[in-house]
Amino acid sequence: MTDISSLVRRNIRDLKPYSCARSEFQGEASVFLDANENPLNEPYNRYPDPLQIELKQKIAGLKHVNPTRIMLGAGSDEPIDLIIRIFCEPKVDNIVAISPTYGMYEVCADINNVEYRKSALNDDFTFDAARLLDATDEHTKLIFLCSPNNPTGNILDSNEVRKILTGFRGITVMDEAYVDFSTHPSWLQELDSYPRLTVLQTFSKAWGLASVRCGMAFASEDIIRYLNKVKYPYNINLLTQKFVGEQITFEARKNEWVRMLLYQRELLAKELTQLPVVEHVFPSDANFLLVRVTDANEVYGRLVRKGVIVRNRSNISLCQGCLRITAGTEQENNLLINELKQL
Ligand SMILES: *Cc1c(COP(=O)(O)O)cnc(C)c1O
Repeated sequence: MTDISSLVRRNIRDLKPYSCARSEFQGEASVFLDANENPLNEPYNRYPDPLQIELKQKIAGLKHVNPTRIMLGAGSDEPIDLIIRIFCEPKVDNIVAISPTYGMYEVCADINNVEYRKSALNDDFTFDAARLLDATDEHTKLIFLCSPNNPTGNILDSNEVRKILTGFRGITVMDEAYVDFSTHPSWLQELDSYPRLTVLQTFSKAWGLASVRCGMAFASEDIIRYLNKVKYPYNINLLTQKFVGEQITFEARKNEWVRMLLYQRELLAKELTQLPVVEHVFPSDANFLLVRVTDANEVYGRLVRKGVIVRNRSNISLCQGCLRITAGTEQENNLLINELKQL
């Protein structure tokens, strides 16, 4: 049994996956009478490629990762859920994650009835690997890290992350939804060094494709095999496969958007710092700013009444009094600043 298989829930290890028509026969043929499809309405009448080979080849070129180390999901939310279902036995195993962080890890753990343990970041949002490892026990199967972290915006120190990757015998998930906005390197190039590392990225943020729902998991072939075994066979529809494949060819445009948004984020930070309602603007490696204001609920409510919506994070641990503000266009950011000036 591989290292990975020994971590997998028994029912998943033993699972005989559904074998769909498109995976039983692969290749060219002139007559397809195997999947009860309608012969008319090409090309939408045919089931899509369950393993999205063409799209993965393009993503492999983009990310310099072998296609066999890629799983695609309906957003990165899909692999988050699948990884919990693959590794965590409900009511037995547990998950440890930094806190505060992206809310979906805890929701998915709750849905799967898996204990979720929060390990607080320091007050300045830096990360202490030893403290997080202290929260683990022999039933900890997963650690969720997020860098740049949401909602705090900061990168997790790579030396601390390495302590987790070497010191933890379970699966470490590194969520890199905001990696395109960061000057720090991705953990993708380290998959060879850490066979239990799983990196999540998405087309939802820098690529401007949140509505299309396409997320990526990168991991060892063993982990990818389990993700493919458990996912719905046709989880990525044909329209998405084709469209994302086209969008990838516009990488230069994505990079230009990132440059513009980072510039706007810096302008926004400067403007915000000068406002009386703003107490602190936290440094950010992402396309948003965490901002501590004098009265978060009051400021949030007034902005809503003016039609400007930000995210109220003031009830989240370590984020008391904070709003999370996405960097928008110059015009959008100016509208926000003008409203805040009038408070
Ligand atoms: C936005 C975000 C995602 C993206 O989720 P998708 O399902 O891919 O849209 C993932 N992780 C974090 C931390 C995020 O902020």
